[in-house]
Amino acid sequence: MAGLLVGKVAVVTGGSSGIGRAAVLALARAGARVAVASRRTAESEETVRLAMEAGGEARFIRTDVTRREEVEALMERTVEAWGRLDCAFNNAGITGEMARTADCTEENWDRTLAANLTSVWFSMKYEIRQMLKQGGGGVIVNNASVAGLVGMRGGPAYSASKGGVIQLTRTAALEYAKIGIRVNAVCPGYIETPLLEPYSSTNPELEGFIRRIQPMGRLGTAEEVAGAVVWLCSDAASFVTGHPLVIDGGMLAQ
Ligand code: NDP
Repeated sequence: MAGLLVGKVAVVTGGSSGIGRAAVLALARAGARVAVASRRTAESEETVRLAMEAGGEARFIRTDVTRREEVEALMERTVEAWGRLDCAFNNAGITGEMARTADCTEENWDRTLAANLTSVWFSMKYEIRQMLKQGGGGVIVNNASVAGLVGMRGGPAYSASKGGVIQLTRTAALEYAKIGIRVNAVCPGYIETPLLEPYSSTNPELEGFIRRIQPMGRLGTAEEVAGAVVWLCSDAASFVTGHPLVIDGGMLAQ
């Protein structure tokens, strides 16, 4: 996908790790200049180094996406650096604690919703404002999950937060379709990242579970999600908006 995003400016939240890091690298390889927005400095700087090594351009802008003023500053600093904002991948998120609905604590609920849902609304708010200021046009991709489309036993806050991300995606897609801002979501299945360490294929007990649940019989890779993000950000997807794109090795086809 080299060259698909030449001259574009992108923001990736949660770029210090996993799917976010892979997306930064894929966007940079496609020609975009990328702001890496996350909290951990060393890991985020490593993402920047890898992007530069791949011939791209990136910079770390430390951001806690649960803090509205930090998200606002992220967009301002990106525009200060590169003059505009064309693409955003609102990816930062957490699983929270696993506990069934009646056992989910208020603290877990609030923390998970803040990190996964309110953060995406904060990001979209300032991304869209900037895109409107530029006269319209632009692409937003939110990272939801298959857990936003179907229920997830033991993950009420996670599932509700991801369902909320999909509805925010659809709503903004409708609101800004005429002005040319496209808003889509990716809905990954089980992807091998630090978030899923306990489910990793090195854990034989869970390996069987994932084989049964994902028809391709393996975990997805962060790069397989990143490829979809680049495509959605590019003009190749120019008529795609409001869509939750499932990337799950066939899990939801069952
Ligand atoms: P990782 O744990 O590898 O990455 C999570 C990223 O989110 C990190 O870069 C972390 O950065 C960032 N983050 C978390 N909280 C905040 C915060 N408050 N402010 C800024 N950044 C934050 O997990 P994944 O790559 O797997 O997850 C990325 C997204 O993909 C999440 O939204 C997750 O729900 C979603 N997803 C993952 C799936 C999977 O199977 N792995 C499946 C479906 C969806 P830092 O700690 O440096 O702030």
